[in-house]
Amino acid sequence: MTEQAKQQPKQHPIIKTNYLPRCYATVFLLSICGLKLGESLLELQYLWLFILGVCYPHVTYFLAKHSQNGKRQEHINIHVDAFISGILVSIQPDYYMLSTMGIILCVNALYIGAFRMLVTCIFVYAIALALGMGYLWPFAGFVEASWAVQIMISIFILIYFCTFAILSYYLTRRMIALNKEVQSLSIIDGLTKAYNRHYLDANLTKEIHRSQRLNYPLTVIFADLDHFKQINDTYGHQIGDKVLIEFVNIAATSVREDVDWIARFGGEEFVIVLPNADSDYGASIAERIRQDIDQHLFEFDGQALSVSSSFGVVSIASEGNNASMENIIACADSGLYKAKANGRNCVEVVDFYSTAEQPS
Ligand code: GH3
Ligand code: MG
Ligand code: MG
Repeated sequence: MTEQAKQQPKQHPIIKTNYLPRCYATVFLLSICGLKLGESLLELQYLWLFILGVCYPHVTYFLAKHSQNGKRQEHINIHVDAFISGILVSIQPDYYMLSTMGIILCVNALYIGAFRMLVTCIFVYAIALALGMGYLWPFAGFVEASWAVQIMISIFILIYFCTFAILSYYLTRRMIALNKEVQSLSIIDGLTKAYNRHYLDANLTKEIHRSQRLNYPLTVIFADLDHFKQINDTYGHQIGDKVLIEFVNIAATSVREDVDWIARFGGEEFVIVLPNADSDYGASIAERIRQDIDQHLFEFDGQALSVSSSFGVVSIASEGNNASMENIIACADSGLYKAKANGRNCVEVVDFYSTAEQPS
């Protein structure tokens, strides 16, 4: 992260969300006030309010955007909204305007700060109203709203709520997209894009139960790159990382799409899960991946290197097994151990039912 990015306070989303509705509200309120006041708008006491009103949404946005705590500033802004609304209604009070401002404030306060903010905003609104009616503009009772004012307020309410609805729609869509992203990040290995260990732990047991329930065999392949430490030591960790990525890409071309899946067990070890596949099929897949890796020319930054891999394969039968994830992984690992002992770059199939790791 750059020094500049570090210093910039991160903008809270409600700051942007509130900007547009506040601009609308200001434009409409000023128009309504202009309509109500007519020529007396040019009187000094109203004129300065009018000019302040024009600047208001931009000033609040600027303050919130540049505040160290934008959310807190926006909360203050909402209370200033409530205060100004009270003052504006008090200029020439009518019930239509009073209730409209009340509704808008309630919705806004609930949207931004739930019930606590609702109470404080209504309180500020009432105080401003009382202040305006009592001291600033001597109260002469509520007046009838003219048709022009009523129509303008209706249009304002329509546009205001449509704006909120559209904003909510896009925020919901964004939230769904972010949720998906978080979900995928939590199960995918950042480097190789294979599933991660967390996914393996959560899903291999499910696969075992599914194979028992639906009565089909399940095969697990444990794969490990040979002398990978040597690759790192000779060519560097960055090249080592690229080899891991390439390994997964090549392995992925040999397994069935949307059926089989590959997870990174840790380091340069991978587990490949083949549902509804027996050990012959598993062995043939492992052998195909082994050959593909062995024959593939790994070439990075002008450096060519050869890579090989070893595999342990284990299958559980369709019925009569009480296998657990730990047993299967341990069996596949013992197959891998044999493959390493046999000189590497080979596939070893282990019989789950005759190894020591199987359950009693
Ligand atoms: P063998 O043939 O017996 O498997 O030998 P090996 O060298 O592959 O196995 P060893 O366990 O000795 O070394 C594994 C190496 O993998 C050591 C570690 O630095 C490296 N490694 C683990 N994770 C990563 C990674 O994410 N990126 C890179 N570049 N290297 C990694
Ligand atoms: Mg290795
Ligand atoms: Mg290893």
